Amino acid sequence: MGLMQQSPLLISSLLDHAERHHGDSEIVSRRIEGDIHRYHWRDASRRARQVAEALNAWQLPLSARVATLAWNGYRHLELYFGVSGSGRVLHTINPRLHPDQITWIVNHASDQVLCFDLTFLPLVHAIYEKCKTVRHYVALCDRNQLPADCTIEGLISYEDWIGNQSASYHWPQFDENAASSLCYTSGTTGNPKAVMYSHRSTLLHAYGAALPDSMALSARDSVLPVVPMFHVNAWGLPYTAALTGSKLVFPGNALDGQSVYQLMEQEAVTFAAGVPTVWQLLLNHLEREGLRFSSLKRTVIGGAACPPAMIDTFYEQHGVEVIHAWGMTETSPLGSLCTPKNKTLMRATNEQVKLRCKQGRALFGVDFKIVDDDGCELQWDGKTFGDLYVKGSWVIREYFEAEDQSPLVDGWFPTGDVATIDADGYLQITDRSKDVIKSGGEWISSIEIENIAMAHPSVQSAACIAVKHPKWDERPIVVVVGKPEATLDRNQLLQFFEGKVAKWQIPDDVVFVKSIPLGATGKMLKAKVREMSEVLAYCKRVEASLESKI
Ligand code: ADP
Repeated sequence: MGLMQQSPLLISSLLDHAERHHGDSEIVSRRIEGDIHRYHWRDASRRARQVAEALNAWQLPLSARVATLAWNGYRHLELYFGVSGSGRVLHTINPRLHPDQITWIVNHASDQVLCFDLTFLPLVHAIYEKCKTVRHYVALCDRNQLPADCTIEGLISYEDWIGNQSASYHWPQFDENAASSLCYTSGTTGNPKAVMYSHRSTLLHAYGAALPDSMALSARDSVLPVVPMFHVNAWGLPYTAALTGSKLVFPGNALDGQSVYQLMEQEAVTFAAGVPTVWQLLLNHLEREGLRFSSLKRTVIGGAACPPAMIDTFYEQHGVEVIHAWGMTETSPLGSLCTPKNKTLMRATNEQVKLRCKQGRALFGVDFKIVDDDGCELQWDGKTFGDLYVKGSWVIREYFEAEDQSPLVDGWFPTGDVATIDADGYLQITDRSKDVIKSGGEWISSIEIENIAMAHPSVQSAACIAVKHPKWDERPIVVVVGKPEATLDRNQLLQFFEGKVAKWQIPDDVVFVKSIPLGATGKMLKAKVREMSEVLAYCKRVEASLESKI
């Protein structure tokens, strides 16, 4: 038959490509010390090989887990490739989780090595005696930065660890289905679950992410992953940037609006990615200081619903295209991205703006469907909503080391999200199933209510939650943080909803708070919002007034 060569889809091949064809493409990192570190893909490649040799020197078995507690930076990047490329598994841990949860995760993953930025030294101190499987601790710093009074046995600096290793290592060839990296879901309910990616799934995802209708990354881009490397592999950007030979810019731990803006301008960033809460900080800074972006062209926003007002501000005031994306840890994470089709380009501007606010359409490699309570597939009319199921080459099959059975239903993964899909295949997430508000038998989308509230010029952030109601079962209220110096009262905000949703969908009330609790990846924690003292006090007042009426 003739046929073609076979080369396994291995993460090391991405790095080889970046080294051979984009060796002088830059990688810039703001370090936790505050200074800027610069080098190139060829240097990253050399040092990643040294990481692999250092792991070999410790005789770390294949598939052993190497954990990181680290910000976005060049050493973390070297671990991404050095650990996975050598056949071990990179386990990125979210340092914003509770120390007990981190300990649980380390033990569950049986991590053997823990590499951490010095910022997290107190955290590591707090947990290391309970981390039974970890044999080696590496601080991501120079030898002279190691604290003298540290009691962690055998702690070594990263530079010492890899410094004397040979860089002439050859990446091993193995089955592309081997495990490459491990991420835990944020576990808002119960313990986190472990999602294990393979080399194959990671490479296919990187290809998918680079396509013009997804992130459209290229060798002409300067890419800033604001999304942390511990949040679903920074949405795969380190891999995709190696595949395309893009310049990479890492923000370290300086994620405030001013620092991110400075870095973007200084490094002529053309593409950035992050969750809405981070972009809100950036936009606030720009607004306060009257600044503009001079190089940024597009940004992928996802992880939580991006408010239409934000998409508008980026586009109208800064000429920056927002690509709204949906995904989850279980989908590597890209599931859908919102870019127009040829036919949708022909539509009126307001229609196109509406479309941009949806979570987008499936990229090749992922498919989705919505189903009713009996699992029957629902129609794609943009109105009917149901439980969102996905499947594909980078979608989970089973959780790692889980006691439960496979989460799949007839080969599909139930996402726990509720969505509509329109006739053109565009997905719109209306809620997480546990956040849906059921009023008088009808569903109200909390995301829609939040989007409207966020469009009010005096609102900084908003969370819509259900409160119990004797007649309607549940009614929505909106919990709001006002912008500093803005004056806003309940009636003004409630009036703002009129004409934008059906009357019965307008929230019953507004509860003003100072801040909305955010989770470890910067998303609103609705469960915590429900427990806020202001909200509990409100519920009590309502209950009392209803009782007095009876
Ligand atoms: P966790 O599930 O642990 O919070 P993930 O980062 O995997 O962590 O979160 C995935 C969830 O985030 C999705 O199931 C969905 O509810 C939400 N999500 C992600 N992107 C979007 C988006 N663009 N719009 C609305 N919700 C989103």
